[in-house]
Formats: sequence, structure tokens, C-alpha cells
Amino acid sequence: MKNGPFKVFIDRLKNDDTEQILETVDPDFLQIQEKELVFVKKILVSGQAYLAKNHLILDLKIKAKAKLPCSICNESVETPIEVDDFSHTVEICEVKSAIYDFSDEIREALLLKIPQFLECHHGHCPHRKDVNNYLKKPSKDTHSPFSELSL
Ligand SMILES: [Zn+2]
Repeated sequence: MKNGPFKVFIDRLKNDDTEQILETVDPDFLQIQEKELVFVKKILVSGQAYLAKNHLILDLKIKAKAKLPCSICNESVETPIEVDDFSHTVEICEVKSAIYDFSDEIREALLLKIPQFLECHHGHCPHRKDVNNYLKKPSKDTHSPFSELSL
């Protein structure tokens, strides 16, 4: 069994107990080796684990901070990656040992929250103008059906 912090001891939950989860963990467990995606702080996971009939249920909040390149100028930006309401259900019979390791679920939930588009300077990338000029058509006379809409 691999070592890691995210473990639930099923037996402890069998007397209708709810296990409170509060862990602060180095991002190493994510095993992300991307040049463009770096988790910069410890990852905070809080929530609870409990049994309901034949299911193990995890309700978690995850807070992390990552560095990603700005989608416009490519400069590295720090951005919070947070999952507020992560819920995971497993059938007990699928849990092969007495301990359920949910580090993979944490990893997946975080990766789903990585923004596809990110802009530096809190959404005001200084290079955005250059990109807009580049994208805009030079002709002013072209009538656009959307010209009345202020975007
Ligand atoms: Zn930028």
C-alpha cells in the first residue's frame, strides 16, 4: 500500500461514526510533472467521510494554489484552485482493503478545476491589447449584425 495522507479506515465508520477530515498536504502526492502547471502551496482538504448503507461517502472541500501560464502573454500566474463541494461515493464491496485511499479522487477533482483560460494581472493582461488588435479586422466599414450590442 502506498503511503499517503488521504485514507479512510472503514472499520472506524461502522458504528455510525463520521470521520472529520482535515489535512494539509504537500502537492507532491499529485505527481504532476508539467512544466506549465505547478502547485505552489500545500493543499488543504477538509470535510467528512461516513457510511450510508453499503456506501462510503466523502464530502470534501479542496483548496490549492497553482501557477499556470497566462493564456495571452504566457507569463506565469498564481491562481487558486478550489473545489467547494466534492462528493464521492463508493460501494463498500469495491473497497478491497479496510482502508480507502482517496488521493486519486483528490487529484482528479483538482485537475478538473484547472482553468482553460487564464489571464494575468487579475484579468487585465497588459498584452491583451496587442492580441485584440491582431484579431480585429482592419476595415471599419464591414457591417456586423452584432455592432449594436455592446460586448
Ligand atoms: Zn498576461
